[in-house]
Amino acid sequence: MVTKDLLKKFPDVNSMANADVKEIEAIIRPCGLFRTKSQNLKDMAVVLKEKFDSKIPHSLENLQKLPGIGRKTANLIMSEIFFEPSIIVDTHVSRITQKLGLHNEKDPFKIEIELQKIIKRPKWSTFCHCVVFHGRNCCTAKKPKCDFCCVKKYCKFYLEKINDEKKSKKC
Ligand code: SF4
Repeated sequence: MVTKDLLKKFPDVNSMANADVKEIEAIIRPCGLFRTKSQNLKDMAVVLKEKFDSKIPHSLENLQKLPGIGRKTANLIMSEIFFEPSIIVDTHVSRITQKLGLHNEKDPFKIEIELQKIIKRPKWSTFCHCVVFHGRNCCTAKKPKCDFCCVKKYCKFYLEKINDEKKSKKC
């Protein structure tokens, strides 16, 4: 929502690098953590200008050298800008792949490595987008709609829940 106004005011790396942070803040105020994000935007533009010839670097390693860019966002940029298959571990991917029983990890980097082993590389990005969609619409954090879930017969969490219910009925 704020991107249109932001890019109107700061249309290139140079104008963002020279921006007054207060002016960035005024535009992206509706976003959470807008102060930190504003400073990151300016700092990122400075780093792009000084180290990367004002171009977005085409590598996971270099993307993470930009202020405000962690591994998740770097993977997302690799996937969506450079069309490289990527495992993007956000809160949905972390939560749902654990529930499905695809791994036993909690750390996002370890989850990424585990999923890389079991998902075919060309499907990495699509898999993550599908999981995010599922997380927003069915397997929500607060109340997963297991009874209506299209993958419930493969889901470790669901199968364990059904088993527990059966056991408690027998008692
Ligand atoms: S069965 Fe339930 S916990 Fe498992 S993926 Fe579906 S909604 Fe999520």
